[in-house]
Amino acid sequence: MENRHEFIDPYALLRTHGMRATPQRVAIAGILLRRPMHVTPQDVYETMSKRFPSISQNTIYLTLAHFEEAGLVHRFHISGRTVFDSNTARHDHAYCRHCGKVVDLPSSDIEKIPKQITSWKVKSESRIWFGLCPACKKAGVIPG
Ligand SMILES: [Zn+2]
Ligand SMILES: [Zn+2]
Repeated sequence: MENRHEFIDPYALLRTHGMRATPQRVAIAGILLRRPMHVTPQDVYETMSKRFPSISQNTIYLTLAHFEEAGLVHRFHISGRTVFDSNTARHDHAYCRHCGKVVDLPSSDIEKIPKQITSWKVKSESRIWFGLCPACKKAGVIPG
């Protein structure tokens, strides 16, 4: 799995992507881009509001959308949640229906594009495996 953001200074990263490096943006980049991770805007808000008590959820959301536009993160939707992923390499996910854990997987190589979308300009493709993670399975959770 790619880990290209490691050791990169968040300030320099924003500047090389043509973004103004405001203290809030640098802090959000610091949370997200040091290692591959999955976060919801709410997760980022909770962490950020400790350091920046006046920051709004909207600012967080707009910053994440900006990062997505700059190619620093990917966005996907799972079980009604919006998740931002700082692993931008092509990959699949496993999602635990009980505890909400999301795990990166190597992408299942679907060589053949389904014929219904051959005339599309496909930008990305990813697969989500749903089930119970080992901890939930061991705890005897009944799959929902
Ligand atoms: Zn679980
Ligand atoms: Zn991921």
